[in-house]
Amino acid sequence: MIVIDPGHGGTVKVGGSSPNNATGPDGLLEKTVTLEVALRAAVALAAAGQQVKLTRETDVNLGLDDRAAVAKAVAAPAFVSIHFNGDADSRVQGTETWTHSVASAASIGLARIVQSHTVGATGYRDRGVKAKVLGVLDPESHDPRTAACLVEVSFLTDPNENARLHDPAYVDMVGRAIADGIQAYLATLPPTAILRAAKPIAKRRRRRARKIVSRSRRRPVRRKKKG
Ligand SMILES: [Zn+2]
Repeated sequence: MIVIDPGHGGTVKVGGSSPNNATGPDGLLEKTVTLEVALRAAVALAAAGQQVKLTRETDVNLGLDDRAAVAKAVAAPAFVSIHFNGDADSRVQGTETWTHSVASAASIGLARIVQSHTVGATGYRDRGVKAKVLGVLDPESHDPRTAACLVEVSFLTDPNENARLHDPAYVDMVGRAIADGIQAYLATLPPTAILRAAKPIAKRRRRRARKIVSRSRRRPVRRKKKG
């Protein structure tokens, strides 16, 4: 189960998550575009046969821990938070992806692939993969099997980008690019990792317990042969 996190939402700050950050010159809100892109990324991943879950599907806000908890509950192999950047200077533009400052190698790997695919869609300057303390990516809040990154697709404060984000074809292309990046990352994992990570821990424990039982049943037979 892949988890996509559309940044922000709602009208009030919740658990470290602001309702909105960047706003386009015409009033287009980051929280609206993050959800649109996330929905399209989810459709593309589902079409490729992946199970996908969004942290939110409507205009509501969730705390940063609660967003991570959605991925932790299913031990998601990948968690990608989608955001748009903002700057007081409307000429600033580019695509960047973030990891937590103490991120795993897997998270950095996911971030690099998502970054390169997203840059391919936006066509903007590659501002690279960066690291800082980010609540939604905090390894303490995630399953250790989850690779987590946050993509800042572009600067919404640039009027040209604001206009382009009203074009459904462009929004779809960005969503597909993020989905393709996630797919490319999943392809680097051992074939069983995705399925194994999706199985609840309790079930695996039960199976292991059954194995031990069947082994102990076999043991007396072997002892008889030796005797
Ligand atoms: Zn944001």
